[in-house]
Amino acid sequence: MADRIVVAGGGYAGLAALSRLLNQAGGRLTLIDSEPGHTLVPELPEALAPGKSVARHVLSYDRLLKDARVTRIADQIVGIRVAQRTVLLQSGEQVAFDWLILAVGTVPRFPPVPGLKALALPLKTAQDTQRIKRDLDKGKNQQVVVVGGGLTGVEVAGVLAPRHHVSLVEASTRLLPGLGPGLASYAHRRLKGAGVTFYLHHKLSEVSAGRIVAGGKHLSYDILIWAGGIGPPTWLSETDLPLDRQGYPVADPTGQVLPHVYVAGDLWQIEDRGQRLPQTAQLAEQAGAYVGSVIASRLKQDGDVPEFHPHIRGMLVALNPGQGVGWVYHGGLSVQGFSARWLKNMVFRQYRRGLTREFDRVWPD
Ligand SMILES: Cc1cc2nc3c(=O)[nH]c(=O)nc-3n(C[C@H](O)[C@H](O)[C@H](O)COP(=O)(O)OP(=O)(O)OC[C@H]3O[C@@H](n4cnc5c(N)ncnc54)[C@H](O)[C@@H]3O)c2cc1C
Repeated sequence: MADRIVVAGGGYAGLAALSRLLNQAGGRLTLIDSEPGHTLVPELPEALAPGKSVARHVLSYDRLLKDARVTRIADQIVGIRVAQRTVLLQSGEQVAFDWLILAVGTVPRFPPVPGLKALALPLKTAQDTQRIKRDLDKGKNQQVVVVGGGLTGVEVAGVLAPRHHVSLVEASTRLLPGLGPGLASYAHRRLKGAGVTFYLHHKLSEVSAGRIVAGGKHLSYDILIWAGGIGPPTWLSETDLPLDRQGYPVADPTGQVLPHVYVAGDLWQIEDRGQRLPQTAQLAEQAGAYVGSVIASRLKQDGDVPEFHPHIRGMLVALNPGQGVGWVYHGGLSVQGFSARWLKNMVFRQYRRGLTREFDRVWPD
């Protein structure tokens, strides 16, 4: 009987893995995802702008996988029984696998700050975005406090600044740790010019209705957005998978966690020259494609597979409308202003086109 290959999560990593498996391997492919479509997560901040829809950034699995030889299960994974090789679903069903790719991504992680988890709105899923949009739609000039000065926090502040009073709170002394100090200070200047008030080196210590305390300062808010951290889903800790101190699966350099169980995407903490690489869609996609190929090789008993070596081509951050900042050509070229934003839009467009192409190829005539 053909091997049962289960891909858990149809995000950047899961879809890239599926695409490789469809092209390179036989086997019975199943995708399990709790959502109705593939969410283009990096595009979600854009959807917060007035008049923009969230639905545009979710590609329905029904359409994407139409006629592809993939069985789709729309359900939430709540556990894995490693010894029995089964995935447990919220509906109570169990899905058996011979090979499993764990690509469910990360979830917002809230530090133990009183009131934070109950009152702050994360931005990680299409529903999160819809929820924030509902609050933003209540009117112009609201007090929005964004906590976290990484990529998500900076992009959200940039999108909201034209219509609202935006404050950005960050515990460290600078924004955007993924960019060099010069590019990060460009982003700072640009957003300041757009009206964002910065509270750098201000650690959040307390949240209550309509008010936060950060670095001893009291700030009022109508909408509080949490962009301060992500982590692995907590249900992983109830499985038999080996996990590191933060709860991420521990994998070998081919993404293998245990025989027949692989990890890809944000859940795979990848190091390059001793440094943990930032969790990005680009890295997730490359890791997913790689792990898909590894399983295809193992099914064909092709022998040893090369280790994963990602090629990070660039890092681009959208600022206020029409502007951006980042680097391309593997760090060889800094870009800022209109050109950076244009490049980021091109990357988004290319990704959509790539998906259509890749999944088209396997659709029957
Ligand atoms: C606001 C924001 C902006 C970002 N901007 C950028 C950017 O500009 N550039 C960039 O490269 N990266 C960006 N990132 C990071 C990027 O989105 C992630 O690195 C990427 O999405 C990770 O891909 P993944 O496949 O691991 O997970 P995801 O894309 O998160 O996909 C995980 C999938 O698993 C499904 N799933 C999760 N849990 C379960 C479960 N229990 N059961 C069933 N299904 C489940 C989800 O529905 C989802 O479809 C951004 C992230 C955020 C939050």
